[in-house]
Amino acid sequence: MKRIAIDMDEVIADFNLKHLSLFNRDYNENITVEDLKGKKLRELRPDLKEEIRKYLIEPTFFRDLAVMKDSQDVIKELSEHYEIFITTAAMEFPTSFAAKYEWLKEHFNFLSDMNFVFCGDKSIINADYLIDDNVRHFKRFSGQGILFTSPHNLYETGYVRVNNWQEVRAYFRK
Ligand SMILES: [Mg+2]
Repeated sequence: MKRIAIDMDEVIADFNLKHLSLFNRDYNENITVEDLKGKKLRELRPDLKEEIRKYLIEPTFFRDLAVMKDSQDVIKELSEHYEIFITTAAMEFPTSFAAKYEWLKEHFNFLSDMNFVFCGDKSIINADYLIDDNVRHFKRFSGQGILFTSPHNLYETGYVRVNNWQEVRAYFRK
């Protein structure tokens, strides 16, 4: 079986939605995902960089993120024909381990724990495909990178791109 490695944040877990709503609430702002086209929140408000990061080191932040639409159904289908690994650069936020694991157990319990990969540098990953919203992970990846659209990566070109999980389904049906 061929292997598909799949990122968590902004691919199966809706990271922006929660991060933005907490930030807007606490700083009396009205930033929308539209405002994040081509950039991350920390680039939009560089003076609040540390405050923006603070939400993410909160141990429960990643526990209740919404599941990206159709990701469960499509991954369940793909798992019949491919080996699926969830690969997250969790070392960026070591306080997130427990929440991320519990989140995966709650929403992707049809996958084995042995297929959850919490790592740092994703270039260690050996898979045929990597579905990710961060292009930096494709640079040293030997398989086929598949860029999952997120506001911050809208202007990236030169990658195979999917806009949602229905497009992932279509890509692997070909
Ligand atoms: Mg991501």
